[in-house]
Amino acid sequence: MYLDKYNLGGRVAVVTGGGQGIGLCCAQALGEAGAKVVVAELHPERVESAREALRKQGIAAEGAVLDVTDSTAVEALAERVARDQGHIDILVNNAGVAVSDVRAEDTSDAHWRMHMSVNLDGLFYCCRSFGRRMLERGSGAVVNIGSMSGFIVNKPQPQSFYNASKAAVHHLTRSLAAEWGGRGVRVNAVAPTYIETPLTRFGMQNAAMYKTWLEMTPMNRVGQPEEIASVVLFLASDAASLMTGAIVQADGGYTCW
Ligand code: NDP
Repeated sequence: MYLDKYNLGGRVAVVTGGGQGIGLCCAQALGEAGAKVVVAELHPERVESAREALRKQGIAAEGAVLDVTDSTAVEALAERVARDQGHIDILVNNAGVAVSDVRAEDTSDAHWRMHMSVNLDGLFYCCRSFGRRMLERGSGAVVNIGSMSGFIVNKPQPQSFYNASKAAVHHLTRSLAAEWGGRGVRVNAVAPTYIETPLTRFGMQNAAMYKTWLEMTPMNRVGQPEEIASVVLFLASDAASLMTGAIVQADGGYTCW
């Protein structure tokens, strides 16, 4: 009875930024649970390699080149997936950028805009376009990838633009959950600690910075992308049927101190 709740057979999932890192693991986790997965990613070569890797694992995977900051393209993809697949059940808003270690006073307009545009605007466009189709059917689950940076201020690298964008993702998650909760669509978020992906390479290769990251974390380690994907799988599944508006911290205890 309980394990059945994780069965995503017959469901269609879209994962943005799913070509590598956390997104690719989310696609694998949802696919292993039986969902058909659409990897929507900026880089065509990553769309292709992700689709191939997933298919080799026996997962029904499709790919789509998508820039989440292009609201017209997001709407077109939602329309296409709904038409081709018949329905959209799960959306994982994972696409995000972090070019950190830039002080607030040195942050250019372009740098600020890039983070807001991908991390917040793009996530909203996807919620709006895919969410509208879920609301029409009266069911669906959205999982947003937030960050512990939406709760705390990272140390030692300054990254006010990123922290602000992720705090906004958390509150957008709660706002949509409240709006859509009575109409069958759940909206939750995961707030990870540092996860070993290309996005955090800059810090893990800097011995002093990496040491601080570990010292700040009760579990004294960074996370692996699969450790976020398993939380995403839970939130996307019926095992989390009573959960909406939750920001689940998967952070090795970072936010305890
Ligand atoms: P990666 O950079 O490894 O993967 C993200 C993928 O999304 C990349 O292929 C990236 O391309 C792509 N992408 C970037 N912009 C867009 C766009 N406009 N449209 C579609 N795809 C895009 O990141 P992670 O796997 O590490 O992170 C995934 C999510 O998790 C992000 O939202 C991140 O903020 C969040 N997160 C990550 C943490 C970590 O420590 N890694 C910690 C907390 C949260 P490109 O390489 O060109 O940017």
